[in-house]
Amino acid sequence: MDGFSKVEFSQSVTILAPPFLKVDGFLNVHILYYNMSSKIKNGISYNKNGWKYVSVKGKPKERGYAYGFFCANDFKEIQKSLEFIMMESFGMPWEYFIKEINEDFKEMTQREFIEFYEEMEGIAEGCNAGGCKTNIDEIIAWNFYMSIPYWYSTKSQNPTAKEGGGSKDHCSAFMAVGDWTTDGKIVCAHNSFVEFQDGQYLNVILDLNPDKGHRFIMQTSPCSIWSGSDFFVTAKGIIGTETTIGGFYPYEKRFPIGYRIRKAMQYGNTLDEYCKILLSENSGDYANSWLFGDINTNEILRIELGLKYHNIERTKNGFFIGFNAPYDQRIRNLEVNNSGFYDVRRHQGARLVRLGDLMDEHKGKINIEVAKKIIADHYDVYLEKENNPGSRTVCSHYNLDAREYMSDPSRPKPFEPRGAIDGAVCDSIMAKNMSFDARWGSSCGTPFKTSEYIKKHRQYAIFAPYIKDRPSEPWTEFTIDDSYSKGNKRKNKFRLTKKGKKMNDKTKTIKNTSDE
Ligand SMILES: [Zn+2]
Repeated sequence: MDGFSKVEFSQSVTILAPPFLKVDGFLNVHILYYNMSSKIKNGISYNKNGWKYVSVKGKPKERGYAYGFFCANDFKEIQKSLEFIMMESFGMPWEYFIKEINEDFKEMTQREFIEFYEEMEGIAEGCNAGGCKTNIDEIIAWNFYMSIPYWYSTKSQNPTAKEGGGSKDHCSAFMAVGDWTTDGKIVCAHNSFVEFQDGQYLNVILDLNPDKGHRFIMQTSPCSIWSGSDFFVTAKGIIGTETTIGGFYPYEKRFPIGYRIRKAMQYGNTLDEYCKILLSENSGDYANSWLFGDINTNEILRIELGLKYHNIERTKNGFFIGFNAPYDQRIRNLEVNNSGFYDVRRHQGARLVRLGDLMDEHKGKINIEVAKKIIADHYDVYLEKENNPGSRTVCSHYNLDAREYMSDPSRPKPFEPRGAIDGAVCDSIMAKNMSFDARWGSSCGTPFKTSEYIKKHRQYAIFAPYIKDRPSEPWTEFTIDDSYSKGNKRKNKFRLTKKGKKMNDKTKTIKNTSDE
């Protein structure tokens, strides 16, 4: 029969499955989304151009359940990867981290962040209903993933265990306003350069419409209640992103960054409130240079968030760039090892120069299309080469870099499976419509094929089963989705709907219908 696949079972049962269903030998039915979207009571999800789009709404447990249900298969894969990644990175199993993180944070989460706790309970239940065995403890630990290296350095009494003697660093970003942009309003861009084996899970776009606080849409990973990458837009008109401060090492156990930034996204009304929430019970984990823009006041703000020290700058006419090193001399000298700030052999110094040059070059002309070009830039400042994608370029490609100019041997090794896996851009108009443009795979569109990479760099062969191909994908606009809450009264019934032109058109026109 056309389009149907034959599925055989050990007990000599044979059925014909339609193309959107995948049936395994244990009679589990997996729905393959292709061009379809799936809906349940409190949410909708579909896959598009390398991204998994999820929109959920309602009370914490309800929206969490829908989110977990849609992400069950993805989280199953993540669990398998974490078994490898945690041993490879720390020499300790994922189970150890689940136990220790919950000993340190579970009670705090229940006491101080009950709403987020209930949402994570819902996620765990949804995951289980979707076929992935997990529990609240694992979801709490997963939402602490970005903080693990900071917390663990204190826990393990080995603060210099990780590369460079301090935290890892990710991402390029900028935010510009006033004379720098075509319309004088805010333009923002970001990419995440990460280790492929875990960064490859940042391909979720989540529209979260809570019963309290502001709705927001963000890039994230399956089952995460905050962004982590970070890139988001809120119904209050705040655009947010960050780049990490590389080599950061002090840590004190207080509120995890994931809870603080999530609270800011959902409840923050002004740039001042964002700073206040981030600074309250700051742990120093995932220390970042945060960039926030308020489309209501047309103002942008950068907070370099160290532990003892922080530095806030704001402007209605200017730009901020993010390149993984702090301007603040106190943070740079007292809280960071080997910042790389002036070192153009490294990505910090090189992008400090290049992103600054790009802001100058495009002054008055920065818009969404220019932002996409800037974030995909391959100019090598150190070698003065126009197109030399590598560890130093705005669009990062460590996997192509021989690292012959490495100035710090503790830094990433030659050809590490690491680099930009995405790109995201937004301006004030898109933010008003609760949308942004995103590209999966790399900011420039260069495809990555694991088998070819491993063939060339056999030292990383054991990573092969844990790194997925990332073909070239187009820039794609995402926005909030309310279609599942209209007209569909069927409760708890899994339904497949054809997602075609209508869905695509809607991404251009849908307006913010949230609680504002
Ligand atoms: Zn590139």
